[in-house]
Amino acid sequence: KYMTGNEIREKFLKFFQDRGHLMLPSASLIPQDDPTLLIIGAGMAPFKPFFTGKMKPPATRITTCQKCVRTGDIENVGRTARHHTYFEMLGNFSFGDYFKKEVIPWSWEFLTKELGLPGDKLYITIHTEDDEAFDIWHNVVGVPEDHIVRLADNWWEIGSGPCGPDSEIHIDLGPERGCGKPTCGPGCDCDRFLEIWNLVFTQFNQMPDGTYPPLKNKNIDTGAGLERLASVVQGKPSNFETDLIFPIIEYAAKIANVEYGKDKATDVSLKVIADHVRSMTFMIGDGILPSNEGRGYVLRRILRRAIRHARLLGINEMFLTGAVDVVIGMFGHAYPNLVEKADFIKKVVEMEETSFLRTLKQGCELLNEEIEKLKAENKTVLDGATAFKLNDTFGFPWELTEEILEEAGMTMDKEGFDAALEVQRKMAREARNDKEGRPVVYNTSGINVAELKVDEAATEAKIVKM
Ligand code: ATP
Ligand code: MG
Ligand code: MG
Ligand code: MG
Repeated sequence: KYMTGNEIREKFLKFFQDRGHLMLPSASLIPQDDPTLLIIGAGMAPFKPFFTGKMKPPATRITTCQKCVRTGDIENVGRTARHHTYFEMLGNFSFGDYFKKEVIPWSWEFLTKELGLPGDKLYITIHTEDDEAFDIWHNVVGVPEDHIVRLADNWWEIGSGPCGPDSEIHIDLGPERGCGKPTCGPGCDCDRFLEIWNLVFTQFNQMPDGTYPPLKNKNIDTGAGLERLASVVQGKPSNFETDLIFPIIEYAAKIANVEYGKDKATDVSLKVIADHVRSMTFMIGDGILPSNEGRGYVLRRILRRAIRHARLLGINEMFLTGAVDVVIGMFGHAYPNLVEKADFIKKVVEMEETSFLRTLKQGCELLNEEIEKLKAENKTVLDGATAFKLNDTFGFPWELTEEILEEAGMTMDKEGFDAALEVQRKMAREARNDKEGRPVVYNTSGINVAELKVDEAATEAKIVKM
């Protein structure tokens, strides 16, 4: 019997608690007091004010398991073994406390002793000039020189403020998982050298004049993907086969009456569905509602993408609430707010599914007609006005239109689409305000928005039944 995802999460947090860290619960996916950020995508993100010195941390050593959403990785989902839109990032943080000589041996100890990973399969990337990290990895930990790779890319900065070199820990999963290119090695984008943990050493202060003076208080910020650790510990071919995700795949496969592992396209759809259902469950649980803007749009896109992949598998009926139940069953223990909000989450998902299913069929028919027309005319670009109509009338996220076109070897006129959208937005802005110019919030959802603890942006967002 293997170590479960829950056990790995607990082991990590305990390991760092035993080393003097204060354990904090995951912050909400909605950033607090950070207008620069749409959604939390890293364990350090909620701690930005501690790193910049704007706020004093409750302890100089903190450990967390942070819920993360990265839409930047949405196209990778199901195509790589390691990327999700939603994942959990385990992390340990030092705010002017310990530094490289503590964190490097600890990370090695955790991976090799606590998780039992084979040290001879681990590869370390360090920044080109980070001799200090090299010295610790090589002379203190004992990693052989040919398992340490210097890369200019191993540098973390966000434009200003605390920044510095990083070390990424990879595990070699064997040449059969690799791209086979002669350049393939730790840091390659393929699935052979799986990046499991990133250790960031924030030791410099990026100044407006382009200089990097050293920080008086050096910090540590690390992030390890729970699903990636689980895939390695559980010996699975990808994150999707771990106990953190596979039950959702099994559920979707059962509903669709398909078998996992028989057909590539089917597997991609099952993985996308499983990934997206996790995302929507946690996002709505944190108070995000589907809308046409900001976080709400991220959620809407994820919801609709999941529904579309379900249709690709031949699922034509409602299925999302059942899948959400599976997710809550899997994670309700670690995240009790999912259990508290279960009915609410399912209600929101059900509304979106109902409205989208109604229009998806008509929209797909229209788009397919357009694709046929383009083919007949030997064209490959869908005009912006038609793409906009699909969005406006049928609620197709433009990315979905683009994806369907892509499958037919076509593209869309994004500029024309943007222009049509801008015209419509302007009209909507004018129509939305009452006589005094105050915004009117439409809510025809049947949910009393005022009773929900949701973030401002989501509350503002109108929930319109289509
Ligand atoms: P990759 O190079 O594989 O895309 P990354 O360098 O973008 O990963 P970091 O920003 O360093 O990732 O995040 C820290 C850790 O979080 C990674 O080492 C990985 O274990 C995990 N992680 C990052 N992105 C994802 C994702 N999309 N899905 C699952 N885990 C992720
Ligand atoms: Mg990445
Ligand atoms: Mg990386
Ligand atoms: Mg990284």
